[in-house]
Amino acid sequence: MRARYDVLVVGGGPGGAIAARTAAENGLSVCMVEKRPAIGAPVRCAEGIGKEALAEFVKPDPRWISAELKGAEIVAPDGTTMRLASEQAGSKVGYILDRKFFDRELVWQAAEAGADVAVKTRASAPLLLGGAVRGAVLESCGERRRVEADIVIAADGVESKFSRWCGIDTTVPVREIMTSAQYLMTDIDIDPYTTVFLLGNEVAPEGYLWIFPKGDRTANVGIGISGKKSGPGHRARDYLDRFVSSRFPNGKTIEHVVGGVSVCQPLPCTVADGLMIVGDAARVVDPLTGGGIYNAMFTGRLAALTAKAAIARNDCSKAALMPYDAEWRHSPMGKAIARNWQIKEYLIKLSDEKLNAIVHSAASLNMKEFSTLNLIRELMKRNPKLVVELAALKASLG
Ligand SMILES: Cc1cc2nc3c(=O)[nH]c(=O)nc-3n(C[C@H](O)[C@H](O)[C@H](O)COP(=O)(O)OP(=O)(O)OC[C@H]3O[C@@H](n4cnc5c(N)ncnc54)[C@H](O)[C@@H]3O)c2cc1C
Repeated sequence: MRARYDVLVVGGGPGGAIAARTAAENGLSVCMVEKRPAIGAPVRCAEGIGKEALAEFVKPDPRWISAELKGAEIVAPDGTTMRLASEQAGSKVGYILDRKFFDRELVWQAAEAGADVAVKTRASAPLLLGGAVRGAVLESCGERRRVEADIVIAADGVESKFSRWCGIDTTVPVREIMTSAQYLMTDIDIDPYTTVFLLGNEVAPEGYLWIFPKGDRTANVGIGISGKKSGPGHRARDYLDRFVSSRFPNGKTIEHVVGGVSVCQPLPCTVADGLMIVGDAARVVDPLTGGGIYNAMFTGRLAALTAKAAIARNDCSKAALMPYDAEWRHSPMGKAIARNWQIKEYLIKLSDEKLNAIVHSAASLNMKEFSTLNLIRELMKRNPKLVVELAALKASLG
């Protein structure tokens, strides 16, 4: 590891790895540090990603794809099922990855492109000069060193501290943290080509429960509920245990993960002097699904390209890095986050009765192309009781 780089990337998840790969491919000197001893482990993810989304960044490879999906099912509280075939569901179906290997592949590609990589190396403080970020203090195996950089890319995930140390408020309201629990289960009866999302205030209050197949008779079975709904006997894991014991009583759990997902709006500003924030650290997760792999890679790439332009102009000020912030917000990804946050806010207030009504109508729709606004229009026609609320939602989506 050198004492100085053009770019220092904090965090070795998909956001950090794509940032490091892109920076190296564009001729910048870059070092990516990861505090954990191994890239990709432990996995805290249901591992779903859309096919097209993935292909934007990496060629699909069977070595890290556990399942290729053909459809998705949304199950109402009363059990009514709405099925989306892959051509309708768009980004909602795709692959279930094996992130232990996927994350490693991305980091391997970054290293091959010329990035330095250090695991078991934690950024413990920013180096600040006149308020601007100029690198970080790194700790590894009891040793501390200072590494300078023109730009730091904070890709340190949902529990991100780096930007907070730089003076940025990254607080997420408790109600907008989905507390999650997931079992990797085997020996269970599932459709290996279909993801299942179960809704309802009894099943997963202000969240959903998922079954994401990872091959024959194996799946990630998990749940996310609003942090404000969590309490003794009502933690995410309690809901999951109740579901699993009734649905998969003979299944075997071979991995258990817990984690948080932010479903809030993104940070109001994702740049500062010498700093760009990407992925979960920037809260660019899809608030409706909790999906953030694609968004992390998208912002990681954009941050690295912005770094290249800023370094070429010898100006790494906040103003020079602002195009990063503006560009992701105006991208289809940024617009989808804004729209899906509104939809999420609407859905979490619905009673089971209203959720049933919506899924009943949607299940009987013959939609060639699934689009949010098409769906709302159709639902308004069929649900006179919901027409006022749906019209308000439609208006807020513009
Ligand atoms: C239960 C659960 C299920 C999910 N399911 C899906 C899904 O199906 N599809 C989907 O798209 N998304 C899903 N997500 C979200 C997805 O996992 C994240 O959005 C994605 O991993 C974000 O990538 P990232 O690179 O921003 O952060 P991360 O992948 O979290 O990577 C951040 C890395 O930074 C490291 N780090 C943190 N602090 C430091 C430091 N100070 N120094 C060095 N390293 C540091 C961490 O160890 C970590 O490896 C799920 C999340 C959870 C919790």
